[in-house]
Amino acid sequence: MKSSILIIYTGGTIGMKTDEKTGALVPFDFSGIYEEFPSIRRLNIDLEVKTLGPIDSSNVVPTDWHELACLIRENYHRYDGFVVLHGTDTMSYTASAISFLLENLAKPVVFTGSQIPIGVLRTDGRENLITALEIAAAKDGEGRPLVPEVSLYFQNRLFRANRTSKRSAEALNAFRSYNCLPLAEVGVNITYNTQGILRPEASIDEELRVADGVDTNVMVIKLFPGIDRRMLECMLSIEGLRGVVLETYGAGNAPTSEWFLEALEEAIGRGVCILNVTQCGGGKVSMDIYETGQRLQRIGVMSGYDMTVEAAVTKMMYVLGKNLPREETLELFRRPIRGEFTV
Ligand code: ASP
Repeated sequence: MKSSILIIYTGGTIGMKTDEKTGALVPFDFSGIYEEFPSIRRLNIDLEVKTLGPIDSSNVVPTDWHELACLIRENYHRYDGFVVLHGTDTMSYTASAISFLLENLAKPVVFTGSQIPIGVLRTDGRENLITALEIAAAKDGEGRPLVPEVSLYFQNRLFRANRTSKRSAEALNAFRSYNCLPLAEVGVNITYNTQGILRPEASIDEELRVADGVDTNVMVIKLFPGIDRRMLECMLSIEGLRGVVLETYGAGNAPTSEWFLEALEEAIGRGVCILNVTQCGGGKVSMDIYETGQRLQRIGVMSGYDMTVEAAVTKMMYVLGKNLPREETLELFRRPIRGEFTV
């Protein structure tokens, strides 16, 4: 049976084309997708398009994530899968957030975009879009979706969305997933890494649940040699602060200065959750190797293991948005809930 896919266009470079008269880049109307790319009919997929925004992804805010999640929920039973077209700049944040907000997803949600506008001859958007559609529509012999999770397709690779970061403003393979193997590799054929793909707990017929909202009282503090007491205390004293993603060095290391540890300990004492992620792209936080990490562990800083900053920020907003008792909150940080880290 033919698959049906909803394309949700939210903005970004992929949605631009050159105006033939003026030569300027203008937005492309995705509802005219069949006229622009008649060959897309050969995919044998029923396509519909909805637009949210569209906006440059630098302007995306957490309420946009929620709106997108609700749009997927409203249309969940009408389609076999979803392809979200998004600007590349904050795509990893949105895609990570969506992976948390959709609580019992059992269908594919594939994010993609492009580095070169779709209406420019040398665009990477056409291939990204076509393959993302194929992946969203792909089913196994029993009619079950092959990739029933939130993923990100870019330049021949399909990644788990909450493992990605944008790593190049220039290269066409702009995204990396240092700590998690691709879910599929695309050459002449699409080769799925079936072992690596999450199996949904929910069945396809269940109602999709969307989290009520997120708590945005979260910030990222990136360590650098020279960060001083004044700066750290100022950031940690922001009114209403509930969570900090601490970007540390190497395997999760930080200064052992008393003022530094005291400031963090005082914030933890006030109930602020602090998650330790590394500034390195690859590898993970192991707070037991050096004294510099052990001291953090002792004062109650939690390990973010090999999580990206994008996943750590959005997970924190999602978990804190639930307003659970402290122990239940901490429990959700200690284990991966959508495959976002490897212990
Ligand atoms: N500024 C654009 C955006 O993120 C860049 C892109 O789509 O590649 O919306």
